[in-house]
Amino acid sequence: MHWTKPGDLDYDERRALFNAMVDKRPRLIAACENPGDVAQALERALADHLDVAVRAGGHSVAGMSTNDDGLVVDVRPMRSIEVDPRTRRAHVGAGVTWRELDAATQEHGLATTGGRVSSTGVAGFTLGGGSGWLERSYGLACDNLAGVDMVTADGREVHVDEEHHPELLWAMRGGGGNFGVVTALDLELHRVGPTVQAGLLAWPTTAAPEVARAYRDWAQDAPEELGSWLIMLTAPDEDWVPRELVGESISAVAMVWAGHPDDGADYVAALRALQPPLDLVEPMPYTEFQCILDDPPGNRHYWSADYHDRVTDDMLDVVVASATRTASELTQQILLPWGGQVARVPASRSPLAQRSARWVTHPFAVWEDPADDEANIAWVRRFRQDVAPYTTGGVYLNFIGAEGQDRVRDAFGPENHARLVEVKTAWDPDNVFRGNQNITPLVTA
Ligand SMILES: Cc1cc2nc3c(=O)[nH]c(=O)nc-3n(C[C@H](O)[C@H](O)[C@H](O)COP(=O)(O)OP(=O)(O)OC[C@H]3O[C@@H](n4cnc5c(N)ncnc54)[C@H](O)[C@@H]3O)c2cc1C
Repeated sequence: MHWTKPGDLDYDERRALFNAMVDKRPRLIAACENPGDVAQALERALADHLDVAVRAGGHSVAGMSTNDDGLVVDVRPMRSIEVDPRTRRAHVGAGVTWRELDAATQEHGLATTGGRVSSTGVAGFTLGGGSGWLERSYGLACDNLAGVDMVTADGREVHVDEEHHPELLWAMRGGGGNFGVVTALDLELHRVGPTVQAGLLAWPTTAAPEVARAYRDWAQDAPEELGSWLIMLTAPDEDWVPRELVGESISAVAMVWAGHPDDGADYVAALRALQPPLDLVEPMPYTEFQCILDDPPGNRHYWSADYHDRVTDDMLDVVVASATRTASELTQQILLPWGGQVARVPASRSPLAQRSARWVTHPFAVWEDPADDEANIAWVRRFRQDVAPYTTGGVYLNFIGAEGQDRVRDAFGPENHARLVEVKTAWDPDNVFRGNQNITPLVTA
């Protein structure tokens, strides 16, 4: 186990998260190599009365995986990956990122729903739900969670699966890091690729209303093999962007077809009829597509999200209008369809509510200069206000910052939330694990 404290040479590197908005200074960072180290770190936190945060890939946009003056349990050293192609299961250390897991599973032509940005941690992503390109075929990442090894608040090592503590497994399929420190995850795998039909199509600003409508119609009743996003963004000055689009607010469709690549090519033909000036959809390795949206760490981020049962033309006008008045050229306005396997998973398997929602909006503000914080946060909040008449009231917590307890309840709905509170009270009655989208335990005597 490696301890890091303020003043150590590696302190700044070890405390940094993906989102540069987060600048917290923990008193101790415990880089844990095994469950015993985790138990020791938790014991130290208890003895020194330190708040605990748990950190894997460091992609919590709200910065929940660190704290000021507390202790961070850093699981990054636990990086083992075992893939069993026979049972189609992977046993994955809690410090593994999606880039590493995708590479390991694709050696066997297998994959599971994973992060759209390859540096995201498998642990935080999966425990919080896990929305990825394969979700309409295979469900969210948490729907593929078959078991975990974890360390409880009082330092016990526990294995959780359908036979052992099934209620806890239910809670961990979307209830976040509320119940213990996960040291390894067992994930179900599926046949994917290794070559998939995938890529980006994009159109100029002038086409935005027409493209948004065409995309909605194309995506909402699409076969489940299709995973896609509509992303409105400023076209970067990159070699692959046609010169006339650089610096313009473009409407891009990112897509991957999880089935046979030829079927994907057939399905994309309807969008190609709209003659995108940028067309990068082609057969490519699944692992390559999984990195296509990767951004470097170090920018400032503020996001939110809402669910929608349907997307009307009026709502699309709201989406398009907001995309043309972002406060930063790095910002993206995102619309994504759910449905397919996401909608079929029953409440008895996972606590995430409103799985029948057909669409998610995800305003995604990204910028560099702290002086622009207010304008960018205001852009996200203004969009949420404008789109409010069209929302269901449900939300997916991995896509938002710290927006309070009402939003946590909205993510699970009253029944599932009450059940989660019972699980939390049983496994973490003192709320040791409160650096998260918190399920607050019942106050015990
Ligand atoms: C650039 C970017 C792209 C993203 N894209 C997507 C996306 O496509 N789909 C999606 O669903 N989400 C996405 N997210 C959100 C991401 O899934 C969540 O922020 C997730 O929590 C990140 O996991 P992590 O391990 O990297 O984060 P961390 O910041 O390390 O952890 C986040 C939280 O997860 C919990 N946690 C982490 N590890 C453990 C553990 N071992 N045991 C117990 N609890 C733990 C803790 O509560 C912690 O506060 C994205 C985030 C970023 C920054």
